[in-house]
Parts: sequence; structure tokens; C-alpha cells
Amino acid sequence: MSGFFHNDIRVSKLPLQEIIDEIREEVGPFLSQGKVADYIPELGRVKPEQFGMAVTLLNGQTFETGQSRDNFSIQSISKVFALTIAFAEWGDQLWLKVGREPSGNPFNSLVQLEHEAGKPRNPFINAGALVVADSIVSRFSEPTDMIIDFMHEISGNSGLEMDSNVFDSEKEHGHRNAALAHFMKSYGNMESEVNEVLNFYFGHCSVRMNCFDLAHAFLYLANHGKHPLTAKVYLAASQAKRINSLMLTCGTYDAAGDFAFRVGLPGKSGVGGGIAAIIPGCMSIGVWSPGLDKHGNSLAGIKALELFTTKTEISIF
Ligand code: GLU
Repeated sequence: MSGFFHNDIRVSKLPLQEIIDEIREEVGPFLSQGKVADYIPELGRVKPEQFGMAVTLLNGQTFETGQSRDNFSIQSISKVFALTIAFAEWGDQLWLKVGREPSGNPFNSLVQLEHEAGKPRNPFINAGALVVADSIVSRFSEPTDMIIDFMHEISGNSGLEMDSNVFDSEKEHGHRNAALAHFMKSYGNMESEVNEVLNFYFGHCSVRMNCFDLAHAFLYLANHGKHPLTAKVYLAASQAKRINSLMLTCGTYDAAGDFAFRVGLPGKSGVGGGIAAIIPGCMSIGVWSPGLDKHGNSLAGIKALELFTTKTEISIF
């Protein structure tokens, strides 16, 4: 299936390399304005003033700038991969356990969960991602191997692995996530053992990728659920549409409205400073800069994406 931008002559005429090199220059002043996440102490050691970006077209052609091959902790970006596996497995039954509305609350908030009887607002806040993790852990015997294999496949990089220091750091300081999981268990919205779910969740969050890997890994979402380079189908087109919609409305914490306003693309961020975004039928983008804004999104990363859709004049709108 070709998307609405795929054959657009405009994209092939765009000087993408020039554009992203220009963006790297222009985000320079923003690199020192963000603050690295330190609630996971291991992430607090990363130098904020770093930047990389990769843009991959559906034919695999990739444009890169800056530190596009430096690995970072993908953190919440991995929630998209977990959601893909869970949605492919459970179909619409998944929505009995987790909602599809923006939360309007911080990503690790406990408050809303009590009001809503243990059903998280969406799969990208931590509570929702834990329910998604549970739905995978309760179905598959080796869930961690499976999700890592999935990441190898979609990125085309079989060298991707978990960062055991980040994993340990997160587990040691993961009391809030543990609280969320126990709380949902008390409402009957968590089938598996809390510890197993947390291990799986911290495991997929701790995987390291770079912008090049990330741009490749999101190609199946830019191509209606089918990886354009391997032809493997991971989701039905209507399911890919739904995951992209969730990224647009809930993918950047409590600032998804502002992200949609500024960037105009579905995207998912992580507290490691990465953001993956897609233009359906056209391309996927990986960007990374560890300094975060007050919502937990990469400050220079959002700026770069905003500049990209402004300069290229392509977005979903
Ligand atoms: N593993 C992180 C946590 O649960 C994910 C944070 C994020 O990137 O939003 O706190």
C-alpha cells in the first residue's frame, strides 16, 4: 500500500541532508537548556549537550547528522514496541484493560488511577505500559527475549541489547512503578506477578539504540504496519493507524498537545532524550538530545522536529 506522501515528488526533491545539517546548527543554543533525567541515577550521568538525528525513507535511504550512531537509553520509546506486540496478540480486547485518552497528568501519576478504578488512561503513561507489559508477560514464556528479538528485527540491528546498569538503577529506584503495578493488581487489572511485569518493563526500557536504529525501527509504523524493507507485516493497517494516533495524542507525556502543535507528527519520546516520529507513507525520524524540558521531552529534540516539519513543509496536516 502506498501512503499519501510516498510518491510525492516533493519528498524526493527535498535537500534532506542539507536540511538536517542546518537543523543541527540551529539547535546548538538549545543543547545546554535541558536537564538530564536523574530520577534513574544511571541516566543522570549522561552529558546533556549531545545531538543526533536520522531520517529514513521507506526505501531505506537514510540521512544522518550529528551523533546519529551514538547509543542511548530508549526508555519510554520502547512502550511503542511493547504495545505493538500486545495489540497484535490481543486485538481490541486490549482496550478492556487500558484506555486511549491523554491523561493530562504526569507519566508516573498514581492519582488518576484511583479515580478510574485501576484502568490506566492510555498505554504510554507508566501505568498503561505496565498493563501492556502484563498482557505480554501473561501470554509468552520468554517475553524479554521476544521483545528484544522484535527490536532486532524491526531495526535491522541484531546487536541491540539491554543496558544492565540502567536496568539495575531503574529497578532499585522503581518504587513508583512498583506502586502503580501493585495498585492495579489490587483492582484485578494485572494478571501476572508484579515482579515479573516490572522486570520485563524495566528490561525493554533499558535497551540502547541510536538515531539510525530508531529511524529504521519505526518504519513499519510509517508504512501501515508492514516493514517496507523486509515486507514483514506486524500490524494490520487499521492497528498501525491506532498506534500512530496514540503517539500523536499521548506520545510525549503531558505535552502531547504542544508537540502536535509545534511538530504536527505522531511521535514517542523517552526520558533518555530520544524521540521517534513518523510521517505516514513517507519516512521515520529518530532524534536524540539528552537534555529534557520540564515535561520530560528532549528539549533540542522537539526543536529539531519542529524545524524539520517547518523547513520541509511536510507533516500529517
Ligand atoms: N522506564 C522509565 C520509567 O518507568 C520510563 C520513563 C520514560 O521514558 O518515560 O520511569
